[in-house]
Amino acid sequence: MEFVRAKSAGFCMGVSLALHKLDDIIEKKDFPGDIYILGAIIHNPQVVEEYAGKGVIVADHPEEIPSGSVVVIRAHGITKQVQYSLSQRGINIIDATCPKVKDACLLIEKNTEDERVLLLFGEEFHPEVKCLLSYAAGNTIVFDSLEKCQEYDLDPSLKYCLAAQTTQDKLIFDLISRNLSERKNLDLVVLPTICNATKIRQEEATRIADKTDFVIVAGGYNSSNTRRLAQIVEAHGTKSLHIETAEELPLEDLRKFQKIGLTAGASTPKKIVDEIQKNLESL
Ligand code: SF4
Repeated sequence: MEFVRAKSAGFCMGVSLALHKLDDIIEKKDFPGDIYILGAIIHNPQVVEEYAGKGVIVADHPEEIPSGSVVVIRAHGITKQVQYSLSQRGINIIDATCPKVKDACLLIEKNTEDERVLLLFGEEFHPEVKCLLSYAAGNTIVFDSLEKCQEYDLDPSLKYCLAAQTTQDKLIFDLISRNLSERKNLDLVVLPTICNATKIRQEEATRIADKTDFVIVAGGYNSSNTRRLAQIVEAHGTKSLHIETAEELPLEDLRKFQKIGLTAGASTPKKIVDEIQKNLESL
């Protein structure tokens, strides 16, 4: 059996930066009180468990974080309103929002200050989407497909601004952008908010899907960018299996394939990808 591993598999810059910041806080112990994260630091249960062992507490709601403690804001960012209320309550905020998410927020803020309506291509309930929406000065519309976007009857007397969640599929975003630009007399500004790390992983997954019979996609089940990699592989006609850890590999079933590919989401630790590789190579 031959085996191909994606070069881009594993942590992206934003995730690495956020984890470094958290490690730094744990190590220096500069702040009194407990260290909190508002939501899981990244969408990977194995990493979250590791930090729980180091005493990091995951708060599901901002009200669970007591005054005087420290909270690390994860790579997805938080809404402007939540950030304001945390600082009002005397909580020390360490902002580990990915610089690319921050850039997207500021682009949205700048381009909607004239009350342009924000059209956002993303998953409505994703934390990053909530963060991006909070920077829009005017009304917002969220949709997760070209078809849903087409259902909106846009008013040509208003101005619009199109942006995307950083991890969305660039090809679909381009189709949405083209479709909106073709609508008559629509005043539309398109913002380049999709992250290159996502694009690179998606393009490599496509190439691997083309030259293998089966692709293993490693990463948290709650990680949308990992799920999307599996969808992209399947869309190219290659079967895929999304797993979180090496223990889930159906090794015996995999023996029937000639060439197996391995890729991983932007929030999957290298040691998990290495372990999966070791197990596949044992075949
Ligand atoms: S995928 Fe891109 S935007 Fe998201 S955390 Fe990674 S580097 Fe940042």
